[in-house]
Amino acid sequence: MAGARKCLEIRDLRVRVGDQPILQGISLTVPRGELHALMGPNGNGKSTLAKVLIGDPEYLVESGDILVDGESVLELEPDARSRLGLFLAFQYPVEVPGVTIANFLRLALQARKPEGEELGFSEFYGKLQRALKVLDWDESIVERYLNQGFSGGEKKRSEILQMLMLEPNYIVMDETDSGLDVDALRVVARGVNQLRGPELGGLIITHYQRLLDHIVPDRVHVIVGGRVVQSGGPELAERLDREGYDWVKELAAQA
Ligand code: ADP
Ligand code: MG
Repeated sequence: MAGARKCLEIRDLRVRVGDQPILQGISLTVPRGELHALMGPNGNGKSTLAKVLIGDPEYLVESGDILVDGESVLELEPDARSRLGLFLAFQYPVEVPGVTIANFLRLALQARKPEGEELGFSEFYGKLQRALKVLDWDESIVERYLNQGFSGGEKKRSEILQMLMLEPNYIVMDETDSGLDVDALRVVARGVNQLRGPELGGLIITHYQRLLDHIVPDRVHVIVGGRVVQSGGPELAERLDREGYDWVKELAAQA
């Protein structure tokens, strides 16, 4: 498909955990250059979709496909997916004792270099300085162990730092805004908006309009019962904020 716009494409995806079906035929296309918000009540499959995108082995893909720039990634390990430019910011980032943020970032960037090419110190350090500045974060933070003892806000900030350093083509953010105060929320939004541009596509999973006040989405989709039941523009998120989810649940029940 020469000339076609590059995109992250989810095709009729059905996923279960054990015997329990969770995603029941999700289709979504996110072209580069667009950020889509994914909303919906708790327990309806949003995090499952995020985890399946990055390749969490706990989730069983029964049918459908996930394509990154036209290439199916279903058979790829999480690491290979990340090298294709997919980045997932977790709802609950893990703590990695013994590995400093600086070393973690250096290894991650080195791993993305072609065989035999060294990551230069000034390239790394320059990039790090710029990213820390966007996040309004002191340089001393990078000598701390990754996420260890971090507050909720610091963990989210550390996810955004990784994102700024790795410069992914597609980001998936799973409730990166949950539990954040207004200042931390602004920092997260600043990081995303910094990366935003014609080469970046993304799915921003969130419950609330407040993050979307800072990161205005191009499209909004609502997931209920493992299906996309409604899609629209930013006004859809505003309506959900005003009226809650009852009306989309009714739509889902009728479908
Ligand atoms: P959301 O992010 O929309 O709140 P989730 O994707 O986390 O929803 O969960 C959707 C449904 O799948 C829930 O009923 C949840 O209990 C179930 N589920 C998700 N992950 C697992 C798992 N690892 N084991 C068992 N059930 C799971
Ligand atoms: Mg969730």
